[in-house]
Amino acid sequence: MDHLLPIEHKMGRFNMSKRQLQAYILMTIILLAVVTLTILNYHSTEKFMTEKVKSELTELLHNFSDETNKFTIERVAELELIADYVAFLENDQEIIQFLNQQREKMPFFTSINFISIDGEVLTNSGSLYKMEHQESFERALLGETVFSELFPSYEDPTKLVTAVRMPVIKNDQTVGVISGVLNMGSVLGAIARDSNLPGTLYLLKENELVYTTSDINFEEKIPNGFSILKQIQENKQGTFVIDENIAHFVMYQRAGDNWTVVVDSSTVEMEKQISFIFWRNVLIVVFTILVLCGILLFIRRIELREDKMLKRDLLTHLPNRVLLEEQLNKDLNQQKYKKFTLFFINLDRFKDINERNGYQLGDRVLYEICRKIQTFVGKNELFRIGGDELVFLVPSHSDQELISIGNGLIKLMEEPIELSTFESAIVTCSIGIRKSELGDWPDLMMQDATFAVHEAKKLGGNRSVFFSQELGNQNERVRLIANHFVHALANQEYYMVYQPVYELSKKQITSYEALLRWESPIIGPVSPAEFIPLLEESDLIIPVGKWILRQVATQIKQWEEEGQSDFQVATNISVKQMMHPDFFKDVKTIIHETMVSPHQLVFEITETVAVQNSRLATQILTELNELGVQTSLDDFGTGYSSLSILKLLPIQQLKVDRSFIVEMEQDKDKSLVILQGILDIAKNLGLSTVMEGVETQEQLQLLKNMGVQKVQGYLISRPVVAELAIELRKKKWTY
Ligand code: C2E
Ligand code: CA
Ligand code: CA
Repeated sequence: MDHLLPIEHKMGRFNMSKRQLQAYILMTIILLAVVTLTILNYHSTEKFMTEKVKSELTELLHNFSDETNKFTIERVAELELIADYVAFLENDQEIIQFLNQQREKMPFFTSINFISIDGEVLTNSGSLYKMEHQESFERALLGETVFSELFPSYEDPTKLVTAVRMPVIKNDQTVGVISGVLNMGSVLGAIARDSNLPGTLYLLKENELVYTTSDINFEEKIPNGFSILKQIQENKQGTFVIDENIAHFVMYQRAGDNWTVVVDSSTVEMEKQISFIFWRNVLIVVFTILVLCGILLFIRRIELREDKMLKRDLLTHLPNRVLLEEQLNKDLNQQKYKKFTLFFINLDRFKDINERNGYQLGDRVLYEICRKIQTFVGKNELFRIGGDELVFLVPSHSDQELISIGNGLIKLMEEPIELSTFESAIVTCSIGIRKSELGDWPDLMMQDATFAVHEAKKLGGNRSVFFSQELGNQNERVRLIANHFVHALANQEYYMVYQPVYELSKKQITSYEALLRWESPIIGPVSPAEFIPLLEESDLIIPVGKWILRQVATQIKQWEEEGQSDFQVATNISVKQMMHPDFFKDVKTIIHETMVSPHQLVFEITETVAVQNSRLATQILTELNELGVQTSLDDFGTGYSSLSILKLLPIQQLKVDRSFIVEMEQDKDKSLVILQGILDIAKNLGLSTVMEGVETQEQLQLLKNMGVQKVQGYLISRPVVAELAIELRKKKWTY
């Protein structure tokens, strides 16, 4: 009856979007963190570099200013000594000789000259010329020590030189001027080269550029160079930020009175370094993005694989129930609807193969069967939707074709499958065929197909059954019942009826069988044969079973109070109920609470308990017997009953199934022989027997002759409510 359970739609389908969302959030956080860190890193490196450049530049500036100061002071001091000495020399010849000697000792001076008051220049090399008017000369005559204006060098007119000039004083009288010509550029150049200058150095005198370590002019190299130069002239020292981003600064400082040292930090090296940091950081971000994309792709691939795995059966690799549902949804889509037919296959008694040969072999057989069927269905996809349940869809709709597909498959399954080299098995199947209709939905199709399979099983299996309108109506009722039985207990829709059991030797009703009834306000009366299996399947049999036991126990007590004695009431106990761990405890509780005598209770069980777990069943039945409760084997003679079970289970009573009575009418002689056998064995084993379903006097007479002790059936009475049932005991029986 598993066709009633709704198909599990969302089975195992994991929440992909949630996991992906988490990954996205995490990766965004990582990306943001990396970007922030690289920006911070870039800024701090930039800041660090700027600070470093600034401090280096400042140091450089100071060094050069110091050097320039020191240099000029030293030269002035040297020249002062020369001036003092020259004052005492007698003639030009002596002066030339002296100047020449000094010039050789003092290589910084390109020449050392003596200029007479009237402007005659006497050089250390002995030449004599008339000097053009120069302000510095006039000032020197007046007693100052000055650096002259710049003028082209005598030796190399492309180079500008300057001269330190101071008066030569003899007896408080200025007799001339000493002039030491200096090439400041070459001097500073030498210092600059020694110091590994990182930027560019400029030396200005007033407005003129005396020296630079660069080939490019200041005005050309520095944006706004011209106005910056002007400002440099106006202040003693200062800094210009040319471009903070690449740490480009210009710093300047006055050295001595006339010199201005200017340093410019810009170098190709520095720009390279900063752009390297920039690109390195860009690279880090790009790399991170790439890695994250890679991780995302990886996750996506795993998810796709997981998704695929979720939709495939592990053993056979066939698409599973999830995929079937997807496929059905697609095929039943109203817009694209095209007729098709669903074949639902259920293997017959496959459980037996598993139980007899173990699950490993069972799996192998299943694998082989699936392969066989897959070959049979060809390019149509085969789905494995449960242990031994397979489904395939065909685009055809013609009955003729569908029947031949079904028959072909049944024929195919009749071929034996090799279990081992010595053993082979035939696994037949039952097939439910359901044609699609516009407006169907997957659940409905599956339910109907399962129902058809069920019908095929009921007819003995190894056949196919078309789902028809008639079957549909039956299924409709089953569905209706399935929708309502769940609330029956809570809504107090159940009640008990009692069917008497007549004891022939005593000519009296000595026991009853309690039977459950359900009167649904919506469906009307429903037979227990229809809803008991549902109760069992849904586990509701546990609470309902408890309720039944309590009802029966209470009824027994009530009848006793009404003066009845010497009777028993049999209750049907379902396998699931009996195997439940709390069953025995619950029985004891009910007995204790209702104070019923256990000897008045009989529990009817079917042989399926022994098939499931005979050890446990034996244990429970023994415990019940020890408590005083009698046990009875119900429906004996149906299914695969074997006589051995009578020896195996601790039972006191045998209820022979109604089917014997039915058969007795049809094939009298054979049935009578078998029945006689059963009765004899039961007698020998010390079991009492009850014949079920006795409906006529003739049947009763026959049974009487065979030595049957107890009978139950419509001849005596149908199952009736408690009040009527007890009335029957007062009746004078003549059977
Ligand atoms: P069962 O245990 O074999 O119960 C006997 C069934 O045969 C009852 O059907 C009864 O009404 C019917 N019956 C009795 N005498 C005759 C007769 O002379 N002719 C015919 N044709 N039928 C006869 P019911 O009450 O419909 O119950 C059907 C089955 O439902 C029961 O078969 C039992 O397996 C199950 N069942 C009923 N009540 C309970 C219950 O309280 N608990 C459990 N676990 N199962 C129950
Ligand atoms: Ca019964
Ligand atoms: Ca029975």
